Amino acid sequence: MESLKEQYEQILIEKSEIIKKIGTLANNDVVKEYLYLCSKRDELTEQQEKIYRDLKYNEYSLCNHIWITTENKYDYSEGRTYQYRGCIKCGLDTRVCQRSHRDLKYLTFDQQIMYYFIRTKSWENGIHTNILCNLELAKAIYSKIKINHPNIDDETARKYFENALYYIRNIKVNDERKESRAKRLSLSSDFNRWS
Ligand SMILES: [Zn+2]
Repeated sequence: MESLKEQYEQILIEKSEIIKKIGTLANNDVVKEYLYLCSKRDELTEQQEKIYRDLKYNEYSLCNHIWITTENKYDYSEGRTYQYRGCIKCGLDTRVCQRSHRDLKYLTFDQQIMYYFIRTKSWENGIHTNILCNLELAKAIYSKIKINHPNIDDETARKYFENALYYIRNIKVNDERKESRAKRLSLSSDFNRWS
């Protein structure tokens, strides 16, 4: 008991010395400038994030989506299968709303924006395909189509996309060719989600 009291007293003394030093430093011009810049930086980050979110909301709202299925996931506790979809144009991805992601701390900043968008806005417009595909691959194919045909309409883009995917999936190539194909699509060279 005595020793605990002594420890407590000791901490009080040490802490009050530190508080005094902090008080002195807070009046120092360099420190003042540092603290001002830190708070300005935080303020700008907040504004930047808000504008970024608005930009993404605009992008998702204005997109006439082309949907693919990204995942069919069986939920054992509910005894049903959830189908998740993704847009090959803007990248909106309903997997952010999976049960395991409801704790938002597991989502990146971009995924959180998608999550709130899907939860609060209408988003199911556009073309719905029955294709099950990796979204990263689908987006990469779509952006190549878009580079080669900048004015392509969505229905034609969907057909080109389906053809390209059919070709990728049905023409057997060796690992070396797969690697160069990944590079051509600007995917990482070890990408392996072709099927
Ligand atoms: Zn979209």
